[in-house]
Amino acid sequence: MPATIIDGKAFADTYKETIAAEVAALKASHGITPGLAVILVGEDPASAVYVRNKGKSAEACGIHSITERLPNDTTQEYLLKRIHDLNSDPKVHGILVQLPLPKQIDTNAVLDAIDPRKDVDGFHVVNAGKLSTGQDSLVPCTPQGCLLLLESIHQDMAGMHAVVVGCSNIVGKPMAQLLLKAGCTVSLCHSKTRNLPDMVKQADILVVAVGKPGLIKGDWIKKGATVIDVGINRVTLPDGKAVLKGDVDYPAALLVAGAITPVPGGVGPMTIACLLANTLKAARSYLKA
Ligand code: NAD
Repeated sequence: MPATIIDGKAFADTYKETIAAEVAALKASHGITPGLAVILVGEDPASAVYVRNKGKSAEACGIHSITERLPNDTTQEYLLKRIHDLNSDPKVHGILVQLPLPKQIDTNAVLDAIDPRKDVDGFHVVNAGKLSTGQDSLVPCTPQGCLLLLESIHQDMAGMHAVVVGCSNIVGKPMAQLLLKAGCTVSLCHSKTRNLPDMVKQADILVVAVGKPGLIKGDWIKKGATVIDVGINRVTLPDGKAVLKGDVDYPAALLVAGAITPVPGGVGPMTIACLLANTLKAARSYLKA
């Protein structure tokens, strides 16, 4: 029997309806409209599309969205100044700096300049540290979205073997922390891992975030495993048509896995929904101040 296809788009649409209702309730009860500021430096077309989608989705949920577009030659000093301004702006509860940044800017210095309470991407060292020590924090949106999709399939993941392929700070590492918190035994694989197929074969839960189309073959996957494909790769077909492909050989994996996310329409929509949820969470944190 082919795998259950995990419809991330439908899940994200329902989740966004819940967020919109909670945003409306926060406005009604406390007069607070959650505010999200997104900074885009440079003219990278893919980043411009992501930023536009984030802004549109925020407004659709009732979140006030500000997008600041800065030129490619923006200095680090100027960007840090803008972040400090937004840190002290009471209408802004969430700040996101779209990555990647131009070469002249130190990404870590920028991410760590964001007030951790407004760090809706969850990339600040304070939030990364809280996640790794099991404390409540703003969690990076993509792995949080993957976790919600996994929870829609598995009520209890305790004791399952989760294999995460890719160990970036924004996806793989926080994903491994979330799975550990859910009680999984976690293996974290990367470009230096020996015998990747054998590692993948052990996975009850497989999360792949590498950026190499079709890296994971169907016959590496354990029968019945749940597969979450984070990869987004633009591939040009022989007829010249450009399509998006994941890191997993989807047609082959579909015949072996128990459940699998498609690309597109799997993890991608969840990332934006979780960004909106983080903005709402950040706005609520000011109620306790
Ligand atoms: P990255 O380049 O920062 O990290 C890639 C990781 O893959 C590294 O840890 C590296 O060691 C590992 N790797 C590279 N080659 C490997 C190999 N042959 N075998 C095993 N591991 C290998 O990438 P990232 O930012 O984590 O993104 C990964 C993918 O996820 C990309 O395709 C990106 O576009 C996609 N992504 C999607 C979303 C979403 O919303 N769906 C969000 C973020 C990233």
